[in-house]
Formats: sequence, C-alpha cells, structure tokens
Amino acid sequence: MKRDDAREKHLEFNGAVLSLVMGDIIAQSADVIVNAANPGLMGGGGVDGAIHQAGGPAILDECKRIIAKHGPLQTGEAVITTAGDLKAKFVIHTVGPIWLGGRDGESDLLASAYRNSLSLATDRKLESIAFPSISTGAYRYPATKAAPIAVSEVVKFLRLETTTIRRVVFVLFNQEIFDVYTKVLEAIPFQG
Ligand code: ADP
Repeated sequence: MKRDDAREKHLEFNGAVLSLVMGDIIAQSADVIVNAANPGLMGGGGVDGAIHQAGGPAILDECKRIIAKHGPLQTGEAVITTAGDLKAKFVIHTVGPIWLGGRDGESDLLASAYRNSLSLATDRKLESIAFPSISTGAYRYPATKAAPIAVSEVVKFLRLETTTIRRVVFVLFNQEIFDVYTKVLEAIPFQG
C-alpha cells in the first residue's frame, strides 16, 4: 500500500489503483460515480438521495427516460446517465440486493452489481470509478459480508479483464465501514 493514512488506503493491481476513502461520494472527482439505486430509478434516501440532490434534475430526467423505454431495472443490473451538476462526468445506477438472510442469491446479485458497473465504465472507456458500499444501508446487507464481495469483484475485474479503468475508489461513509473494508483489503494475499 502507498500514501496510506487513517482515512485512505491504496493498493495496486495490474497497473490500476484500488483505494478506500472515508467520505461522501458526492465529493468524488472520478469519471463516474456509482449510485446504489432502486429498480424504479426515481431517487430515494442514502446515496441515491445525495446524488440526485447534488446533481440536479438532469439525472432524474434521464432516469425517467430509461425507465420509460426499458422498464424497471433487475437487481444486479446497471445503467449510465449524465452526472448533471456533479464533479463526475457520469453516474452509473445499479441495484444491489435487499438482504433477506443470505439464502436468496444475495451474494451473486451483489457481485453482479459491481461487475456490471465496471463493465459499463469499461464500455464507455472511462478511467476512474467511485463506488459506495452498495446494499449496506437501506437494503440492510451486513457490511462484513458485503465488503469481501465488493473488494473481490473489483480485484478480479482489474486482474482479469481488459479495461480502461485505472482507478477504483470505495467511498465509505463512516469509520466503522471504512474499518471493515480496510480489514478485507489487508487480507488480500497478493498484490501486483
Ligand atoms: P442501499 O439501498 O443499496 O443499501 P444506501 O444508500 O441506503 O444504499 O446505503 C449504502 C451505503 O452507502 C451505506 O453504507 C450508507 O451508509 C452509505 N452512504 C449513504 N450516503 C452516502 C454518501 N453520500 N456517500 C457515500 N456513502 C453513503
């Protein structure tokens, strides 16, 4: 790890950097920030509310057009819109699973949400992407179970896929969840 301090951790994979940052996803200047959305893409609380509030009405307008054309998103799917007034260029809206106890395919669905977001960013030839901790708020996925899935999907993608992505940031909202992700990152046996 390099440039680490109490609020930031960094790891390198295959020439790309994976970072953990404590903070608000709205403040990120990545090419794309990921929204922990719901299937109807009509906004909500948590990350979703913060993105629409800070990004302005252009995001919701595009979300409405997507829903009118395609219908609601399936869990694990991802779509891309403008980022409106945000610093980022785009927002990827993905729907994580609601935690139902762990026997309802939640882990595969959570992995899909990360993978589909990374694929979409790659399709658009983007270089940097910021994720919140998908599903661990209103959708109640335990952070200790979600973090290993989130980190391993990103690491797998950076190691195995041909991608334009050079920087992935997990933006973690408080110390508790930052510490959970830090433990997972520190347990990865091999870097490079
Ligand atoms: P979900 O419905 O997928 O659970 P939430 O937005 O409710 O999504 O919560 C996902 C995670 O994002 C939670 O850990 C929550 O604390 C965190 N969070 C909420 N607001 C922000 C924000 N502005 N920036 C980064 N993380 C946030």
